[in-house]
Amino acid sequence: MPATGFWIRRIQWPLMETFKENRTRQYMSEMLLAQSLEKEALLESQRKKLASLLDHAVRHVPAYTEFAAEWETNRDLPERFLQRLPILDKTRFRMNPDPYLSRHANPAKLIGNRTGGSTGEPTRFYLDRPAVERYEAARWLGLSWHGINIGDPCVMIWGSPLELNQQQQSRHRWKERWLKNRLILSAYDMDEKQLDTYRKLIQRFRPTYLYGYASALYTLASMLKQRGLVLGIPLKAVVSTAESLYEHQRKTMEEAFLAPVINEYGARDGGMIAYQCRKGHMHIFSENCYLEVVDPTTGLPLYPGEAGAVLVTDLHNTVMPRLRYQLGDVVALSTQTCDCGINYPLLKQIDGREDDMFISQQGGLVHGHYFNHIVRNMDSFRTFQIVQHEPNHLSLKLVKEPSSYQPADETRLLAGIHDALGDVSIQVAYVDHIPPSASGKTRYAIRECPLTTAHGME
Ligand SMILES: [Zn+2]
Repeated sequence: MPATGFWIRRIQWPLMETFKENRTRQYMSEMLLAQSLEKEALLESQRKKLASLLDHAVRHVPAYTEFAAEWETNRDLPERFLQRLPILDKTRFRMNPDPYLSRHANPAKLIGNRTGGSTGEPTRFYLDRPAVERYEAARWLGLSWHGINIGDPCVMIWGSPLELNQQQQSRHRWKERWLKNRLILSAYDMDEKQLDTYRKLIQRFRPTYLYGYASALYTLASMLKQRGLVLGIPLKAVVSTAESLYEHQRKTMEEAFLAPVINEYGARDGGMIAYQCRKGHMHIFSENCYLEVVDPTTGLPLYPGEAGAVLVTDLHNTVMPRLRYQLGDVVALSTQTCDCGINYPLLKQIDGREDDMFISQQGGLVHGHYFNHIVRNMDSFRTFQIVQHEPNHLSLKLVKEPSSYQPADETRLLAGIHDALGDVSIQVAYVDHIPPSASGKTRYAIRECPLTTAHGME
């Protein structure tokens, strides 16, 4: 609703700034200025922020005070010093989070948060308002690269039934509608009948953009395409977040929504990390976070261009700093630049989750994309899910595409899996449907056995 957007921009936000000291727009203008800085100036700005965070952590955060003396002699080289600190993986943090809370954190101002826990126990952590506002600022900046303004109407396509239940509470719905100009629809268990209702709701709301999980947006796009329908409203963008965006999903969404598909890379426990620009590159918000990429089995740093485990240091979370936090994603950094006018550094690629990496019998790592790629080149299967329970024991669920199914494709698929993983046992089952996990995300490739027992560096 355009009028609501105007009200939000001109009245609600200035009021929030005056009375609630909300600094999102201020942070956004700082980040907007920074995006035009030269590479060296950007690095220097990030270095200063990192040094100040490290200084704070070794003084006030029990988990890091033992490094105080070492920091004193390395103050000029914050990046180098950071590399000597232990990698913080989720399990270790989850088992013992208290030492990461700053002694100076004001309990009244802490904001509790937790990850969804779709792949295990939820991780609980704290932030404060300024840290949350920095994430928001980064998201609005990323959206502004595509002509989207604060308060522009948005339809969120969510995959989770939990969100829908929350949404049913009228207060929440009112807030979404009038304070955020947002309409939330759940693609979880969406059927043909609902598709018509959703289409009408979206047409009536006239969003500037759609926003949601890749799999949820893809579900809606596929259903529209199958019925030969379009939304029939001009969209500036379709923003995919929270899970890997596969090329076939992007293609289907672009065809169904007739709008560019933009990838947002963030994590509840890692902040807003990178956003896709108009030229299709992922720019890292280096004013907000410091990224490292390491070998997931040894923990040693990798060169730009090499894919490995991403470690995130959120430069503004001073209430509960998590230095070198291993998010669980596999990415590669890039030394390339982009000519779109934004100088934030680039991510070369985001490969998905470490959990999506499989272990071969030879000890190598095979990405889940590999299986996806084989299946996508066959017409026999609508979808699939492969699970590595033990290094030598896997199960494979397949959903047939009845009109074009050929039994020989199963043999070819199994041969492909054996090629990559070696002599493993694979239990095959044909099913009608592969339900998404509790969080609403659908995963094609899941590894249940550990990738590695320990990370060096300690
Ligand atoms: Zn760019």
